[in-house]
Amino acid sequence: MELKHFSAQKREVVSCDENMNPLTQQIESKLKELAQETDDFRKSEFFQNYLDTMSKFWDYSYQNQLLIHFSLPTATRVAGYRTWQKLGRQVQKGCKAISILAPFTYKNLEEEEETYFHPVSVFDISQTSGQELPAVDVELSGSDFAWLWEKLLSFCSSKQIPVKLEELGVNGVYGYCTKEGIVISSLHAVNSQVATLIHEIAHALLHRESSLNKQQKEIQAESVAYVVSRHFGLDARSMNYLALYDADYKKIMENLSAISETAKEVIDFISFYSSTHLPDNTSACSKTRSVAIAVLSGG
Ligand SMILES: [Zn+2]
Repeated sequence: MELKHFSAQKREVVSCDENMNPLTQQIESKLKELAQETDDFRKSEFFQNYLDTMSKFWDYSYQNQLLIHFSLPTATRVAGYRTWQKLGRQVQKGCKAISILAPFTYKNLEEEEETYFHPVSVFDISQTSGQELPAVDVELSGSDFAWLWEKLLSFCSSKQIPVKLEELGVNGVYGYCTKEGIVISSLHAVNSQVATLIHEIAHALLHRESSLNKQQKEIQAESVAYVVSRHFGLDARSMNYLALYDADYKKIMENLSAISETAKEVIDFISFYSSTHLPDNTSACSKTRSVAIAVLSGG
């Protein structure tokens, strides 16, 4: 029903599209800002130190993430006993280890490589104490963008993309997207969930049948999250996230057209959706944060 309602009035939005070229320009200039900020952040001493620390953590497989989750649902960052020591932290006495399966390869009698899995013990950061780890801040606090969450859900339903909140926590998982839909971590602040949802929406729109590599997919998704968030006044920490994916100015700008089209689609929907809820005759093309706040206070 909502979808029909949307397409019936979409013409109005299209009709003022000609003077809306500024939106495309605005998207491009925001993307340039992001690309520059990402470059600056990558060069910082802080980030170099961070990379050094993080290279000591493994990238856990989905199966191992499940094992960790079942063993300690609140786990956020896990590593082996010795890795924690190298990072200046000590596993506390009496802590129950989390068992995961590590792959080992060996050569059999025919000199062929074979892999077997062996349980190894890891510990969550909450089971350790000592030196603080450097952290790249991608988390957003606050819940003043709950209104945007609602509109993004409407966008998803118009695209038949189911969205679920679930307790995800292992090594900083904020959300993910599969053919079945989008899952967002319920453990983060609403504003963080909003930025993550835009990121996952971009994956759903752009990458369901894409052969792009992981880095390019993340650059596109996070840049869309940045542009859309900033458009509505939410300051996403995307430069930090993109630096983690080794993105730079050139790599970000190479994806301009995919990012711009996707961001525009989401912004257009939300702006239109906002306008249908406005008490006054504000244009359907208005897309400022103040408009959005007016929607909220207008009920
Ligand atoms: Zn992603």
